[in-house]
Amino acid sequence: MEYISTRNKNQSYSFKDIFLRGLAPDGGLFVPKNIKIYNEDEIKKLSELSYIELATEIIFNFCSSDITKTNLKNLIQKSYKIFSSEEVIKTNKIGDINLVELYHGPTLAFKDIAMQVLGNLYDELKVSANKTVNIIVATSGDTGSAAIAALNDRKNINVFVLHPDNKISKIQRKIMTTIGSDNIYNVAIKGSFDDCQKIVKDMFSENSFREKINMSGVNSINWARIVCQIVYYFYSAFKFKNKKINFSVPTGNFGDVFAGYMAKKMGLPIEKLIVATNENNILERAINSGEYKPSKVRQSLSPSMDVQIASNFERLLFDIVKNDDKKVSSLMSELSSNGSFSLDEEQKKIIKKDFCACKVSDKETLEIIKNIADKLDFIIDPHTATAVGASKKLNLMSETLILGTAHPYKFLETIKVATSKEVKMPNQLSNILDKKEKYDILENNISDVKSYILEKVK
Ligand SMILES: *Cc1c(COP(=O)(O)O)cnc(C)c1O
Repeated sequence: MEYISTRNKNQSYSFKDIFLRGLAPDGGLFVPKNIKIYNEDEIKKLSELSYIELATEIIFNFCSSDITKTNLKNLIQKSYKIFSSEEVIKTNKIGDINLVELYHGPTLAFKDIAMQVLGNLYDELKVSANKTVNIIVATSGDTGSAAIAALNDRKNINVFVLHPDNKISKIQRKIMTTIGSDNIYNVAIKGSFDDCQKIVKDMFSENSFREKINMSGVNSINWARIVCQIVYYFYSAFKFKNKKINFSVPTGNFGDVFAGYMAKKMGLPIEKLIVATNENNILERAINSGEYKPSKVRQSLSPSMDVQIASNFERLLFDIVKNDDKKVSSLMSELSSNGSFSLDEEQKKIIKKDFCACKVSDKETLEIIKNIADKLDFIIDPHTATAVGASKKLNLMSETLILGTAHPYKFLETIKVATSKEVKMPNQLSNILDKKEKYDILENNISDVKSYILEKVK
C-alpha cells in the first residue's frame, strides 16, 4: 500500500517510511492512497475472528508491503500478552450504557492498544538496527505513559516525552515518570498540550534537526496508531449485534474517532460517530457550525481531551474535499495566517452525514459520574463520562457504543469529587505509586527543547 501526504499527493511513501517519519515533510499528515473495502460476506467472516486474528486481518491491509502476515500476527500476539483482558478489550452492559472498555493495558488508557504494537513495529521494521532512533512525543497525559511502557529498555531507541507542566492528573504523571529506564526522558513544558504538540510538529518540519537526531514520532499523527485503533470498532460492533450502531467517542486530537471513520469507510455499518468534547470544543464547533477556530486551551476534568488544535481533523478534511491536496494546503495556511478557516455548506453536509458532535461541561461530567456510581454502582472516568453525556444529550443511548478510554483510577482526584464510592486500584499500578518520579521542567520554547535533546543524545 502506498501513502501520500494530505498536502501533496504526488509523492508516495511506503508504510515503513510513514511509520518512521510520523509527519509528512510538507507538514501534512500521511494517509493511504486507497483503502480496502470489505463486502458483506467478508464482514461476516471477520465477525467470527478472535481479537488477535481480526487485528491481523485489518492491520495487514495497511502494511502488507513491509511485513509478512505471520510476522504481523506474532507481533500482535506479543503486544497484547500483558493486557489484563484476554480479548484485549471488554464489552460491558451497565444499565443503559453499552460500554467498550479499552483500558486494560499496562497504563490503563486506550492508547496502550496502538502503542504496544508500535513499540514492536520499531523492532520488526528494523528501523533502529544500525542507528539510534529518537522518538519525540507530546502528551496530554496518556500517550506518554503508553509510549514509555511500549518502548522502555528497547535497544537503540530513546524516548522524549513532553507533557504540559501541572496540567495532567497526578496518577497520569506518576505512571509516566516512574516506569522509565535510561532511554526515557520526561520533560514538563511550562505550557499547554497544544504548545507541546506544536514543538514536536515544528521539530518534525525542520528537516536538518529531524535528520540529525534520526527523529521519529508516535503521536496520533502517526498513521500506524490509527490503524491499530480501527480494530476495536469492528470487534465491539460485532459483539453488540445491534442493527443500528453509533459510537460515542471522547475526543481530543481526533485520532480515535477518525479510526472509527476509517472503519466505516472500510465497510463496517456504523450510523453515526459522535464526537464528544469537553469545554475545549473546537471540534464540536467545527462540525456544528463549520468554523474551525482554535481558542485558548482551558484546563478541564478530562485533561487528555484538552486540545484545541485537533491535528487529525486534517485527514478528514482531505477526505471530504475528495483528496484535493491544494485545497487542504490552502485551508491550513489560512488557519496559520488568520487563526481559523470555514467549511462551505457542501463540506458541512458531508461531515454531518457521518458525524455529530456534542460538548459536555465539567459540571455535567461530575453529575454523570455520580449518577452512574449511585444508580448502577459502576465508576467511569471523566473522559468516558463525556461520551456518555454526549450520547444521552443526543438521545441515542440504546443504539450507541460508548468508548471507555481510561480506567477511573487514573483520575482518582476527580472521582473523589464526584462520588464517595471507592475505586479499586488496578494491579498494574501496585508497584508504581511509591516509586520516585523523574522529570525535568523546561520553558515553552522550541530551542530549549532542542538543546535539551541534543545534550542527551550526544
Ligand atoms: C487521548 C485520549 C482521548 C482523546 O483521543 P484522541 O484520539 O486524541 O481524540 C480521550 N480519552 C483518553 C483517556 C485519552 O487518553
